[in-house]
Amino acid sequence: MADNIYVVGHKSPDTDSVTSAITYANLKNQLGMKDVVPAAAGEINNETKYVLEHFKIAPPVVLKDATDKKVILVDHNEVGQAVDNIMKADIQEIIDHHKIGDIQTGKPIFFHNEPVGATGTIIASMYELNGVKISKEMAGLMMAAILSDTVLFKSPTCTDKDKATVEKLSKICGEDPQKFGMEMLKAKSDIKSKTAKDIVFGDFKKFDFSGVKAGVGQIEVMDLADLAPKREEILAEMRKTMESEKLDMVVLMLTDVIKEASDLLFVGTDEAKAGFEKAFGGKVVNNSIYKEKVLSRKKQVIPPLESAFKK
Ligand code: MG
Ligand code: MG
Ligand code: MG
Repeated sequence: MADNIYVVGHKSPDTDSVTSAITYANLKNQLGMKDVVPAAAGEINNETKYVLEHFKIAPPVVLKDATDKKVILVDHNEVGQAVDNIMKADIQEIIDHHKIGDIQTGKPIFFHNEPVGATGTIIASMYELNGVKISKEMAGLMMAAILSDTVLFKSPTCTDKDKATVEKLSKICGEDPQKFGMEMLKAKSDIKSKTAKDIVFGDFKKFDFSGVKAGVGQIEVMDLADLAPKREEILAEMRKTMESEKLDMVVLMLTDVIKEASDLLFVGTDEAKAGFEKAFGGKVVNNSIYKEKVLSRKKQVIPPLESAFKK
């Protein structure tokens, strides 16, 4: 329908992006805006599938092109991460928890950005603010988003507000956060059926570091050894991606959520490599630098890259 307002997250949708679209559309519907519908900017990943099936919620429609559409953006505010032709859309609102990006609007809009661990945390507080009761299902989806984005509270992006929100939501949905979180991680870590392409693009975002074009992906697993047999194939896919997307570098964070460390796989130009090594204070050996305690792309990988390339 032409007049629908689509709530949509970023491309390579993660659990926070998809469930934030669903829960925010639900909140708007309850506030009387019946034409607000959730959407996803691409195929839904295994973790999100697990979450939606668990709470018996249908996956949202897929929105591939935003031309002339009314949209509310959740969980991102960068053109490079948004649905195609986002600048030809009528952006009505943005709800996010990332750095302020490059989305521009022609008129003033409601823009709520807050440095918390997940968009789900912000939306839960908006239900409260509007005095709207949170259903068991919506509570489950928002809890899943927070647990996913904060890697079960282990990520440095996690705040006290995220923890307090999960505590409230877990009471409503009746799920134990740690137990449910581990099941979610298991679903996410199931990489047997995944191709190298799935692994590179499962959670892939583009950035511009002072003119250096980068793609930075992340895959979270319970044991890095599971990824070892696919390493060469993954690197080949990263090189291919560099060509096809016209990037100067592609980084893939192989994150071990149990050991709380990331193997940062790198392919790129000599200039990009120098910046990457400067950012992480080491030498690239066999296409990677291993970093203890690094779990968050947003807080621990993007900022050092940004300063390393700053002219
Ligand atoms: Mg996200
Ligand atoms: Mg998020
Ligand atoms: Mg993430």
